[in-house]
Amino acid sequence: MAEQEADLTKKYDALIIGSGAAGGMAAHVLTTHGLQVLLLEAGKKLDIEKELRSMQWPYDNAHRGALPPDSHSLSFNEYTIRRPPYGPGFEKSKNLYSYIGNSDYTKNIVVNERENPYTGTNYAWVRARCLGGKTNIWGRLALRLSDYDFKAKDRDGYGENWPISYSDIAPYYDKVDLYLGITGVKENLPYLPDSIFQRPTKLNCAEVTLQQGLKKMGRVLTQYRAGVTTDGLKHNKYRSRCYGRGACERKGGCDIHAAFDSPTGLIYPAMDTGNLTLRTNSTVREITVDPTTGKASGVHFTDSQTMKDYTVRGKVVIVAASTLESARLLLLSKSRLYPNGLANSSGHVGHNFCEHVMGPGVAGQAKDLVGKPSTLDDGRPGGFYLARFRNLAQQHPNFIRGYGFEGGSGSSMFPPGTDRPGFGASFKEEIRQNQGSYIGMGAFGEVLARYENYVDLDPVVKDKWGIPALRFHYKFGENEHNMVKDMKETAQEMVEAAGFKIIYVNDRVLTEGWSIHELGTARMGNDPKTSVLNQFQQSHDVKNLFVVDGSAFVNASCQNPTWTIMALCWRSCDYLADQLAKNEL
Ligand SMILES: Cc1cc2nc3c(=O)[nH]c(=O)nc-3n(C[C@H](O)[C@H](O)[C@H](O)COP(=O)(O)OP(=O)(O)OC[C@H]3O[C@@H](n4cnc5c(N)ncnc54)[C@H](O)[C@@H]3O)c2cc1C
Ligand code: SF4
Repeated sequence: MAEQEADLTKKYDALIIGSGAAGGMAAHVLTTHGLQVLLLEAGKKLDIEKELRSMQWPYDNAHRGALPPDSHSLSFNEYTIRRPPYGPGFEKSKNLYSYIGNSDYTKNIVVNERENPYTGTNYAWVRARCLGGKTNIWGRLALRLSDYDFKAKDRDGYGENWPISYSDIAPYYDKVDLYLGITGVKENLPYLPDSIFQRPTKLNCAEVTLQQGLKKMGRVLTQYRAGVTTDGLKHNKYRSRCYGRGACERKGGCDIHAAFDSPTGLIYPAMDTGNLTLRTNSTVREITVDPTTGKASGVHFTDSQTMKDYTVRGKVVIVAASTLESARLLLLSKSRLYPNGLANSSGHVGHNFCEHVMGPGVAGQAKDLVGKPSTLDDGRPGGFYLARFRNLAQQHPNFIRGYGFEGGSGSSMFPPGTDRPGFGASFKEEIRQNQGSYIGMGAFGEVLARYENYVDLDPVVKDKWGIPALRFHYKFGENEHNMVKDMKETAQEMVEAAGFKIIYVNDRVLTEGWSIHELGTARMGNDPKTSVLNQFQQSHDVKNLFVVDGSAFVNASCQNPTWTIMALCWRSCDYLADQLAKNEL
């Protein structure tokens, strides 16, 4: 791709902050419209060939994929019993990572917690500061939201409706599907709309058994809808089609880029238009404001490596630093005109923070699959998705909204059961006999958006660059705890009803943040008194400022958010380009 030097004396048409799903999509859409765009990314450009190693055999890795001895990744218990920041108490480890940084394949992608502290209530905050952000290692489950989500208030009276309906965003979901590629099977469910799918992956024997069992209960298990191209994308020379090579579950990224990541899916093609300039190692610390017009004038950033400060101007500023970092940046951008932070006349920036509650799940075994020949099940970008079934036609007495399950079964390179006691030939034989007979699934449920769940700036703690850290005030509430009880019961009931023997039931609720689906800190709405952005993710207060990531969500739904983040961003950037052309910004 054609790289250009950033010209910091120039006024760009648009400045984009962050290069993940949202920033990458903004770069793609705006450069296609012919705008001159500067993309500022706080992290480094990874040496992709070295970092993404889905093809590497475990024995070719110095530690069989484990972290080197001088590094540590936070465990569930550490998140629960310790309070952030997680600096002290881990002196032996030079590098400290979130729970996702627990392997050699992810450690260079997630941040070092010591350089990037945060404070407040317990929260497993996973951040990736590098070109492409979290999309380098995301789990690829790519689901649509529906009017059951956008108009949820109409159904149960809680919270706010979104200022858009499914019909507004559906054409943009289609564009994302066609531009990036998605695999799955059509199910015609009004609460989980279909995408324009490429060739689906196959369910294996145990998964089909569960699917058939659930059908009798009126519940739908479908192939994992993955943001992966299985047929290839003729318009993108940086990506290859998935040929099922087997290390998708490593969370270390797909080195042939069959799985969507922002650099190869969006940013490199945008650079090829000649309209995009990329500057990595650029930590934006403030959005600057023209005191006469009240509009955003540009940004102030620090070179993450040299620590030198710079400013650059833009006609439009697009914040895409991820839900919590975007809120942090708006709160940091205080001025005489905006003493509560930028775009915050409503006082809602940082509030209505929501995500997915995770944890309860179940593992079962199909006795008739014991001893069957092994199959190649590693080579798939995912197993299955069990769609939401609660609070659709009937209201559950104990909680509102819904949850779905992600799961899988089959033979794999590291089969389930290897953590059991045993050794030698008989142990290996037992593992071999049983592998492929297990099935497991875990739930993801909607956490209600509540004003009292919020983030603000810590008055004392700062990050490595001297920027105030984020402070969390966030807890699951009664609705989430009631939902979790139900998840545990239904998981067990469904697996049993399909004829599996239950071998493990997990009733542990994972720490707040575990889902890595944080949302809602600058929500959209029609009323500027109770929302931060309008339906085009444009600030109510500052019309040349757009916030195009998950912070704009009004509620979390229970579906994974990334495909929606990109569809919304595409819609907003089309609007932005049109308004800019009309001199309306
Ligand atoms: C292991 C894992 C599994 C996941 N699985 C799924 C899944 O199956 N389905 C799903 O939908 N989602 C999944 N997600 C979540 C998904 O990755 C995110 O929803 C998505 O990446 C969000 O995009 P974003 O652009 O908002 O943020 P990011 O991808 O985090 O990108 C934000 C970028 O902004 C940069 N940045 C931050 N602050 C600044 C600053 N001040 N100045 C300049 N740049 C800045 C960051 O360095 C980063 O590169 C998963 C995430 C992880 C980590
Ligand atoms: S299974 Fe497909 S998407 Fe997953 S790592 Fe292999 S090629 Fe990439």
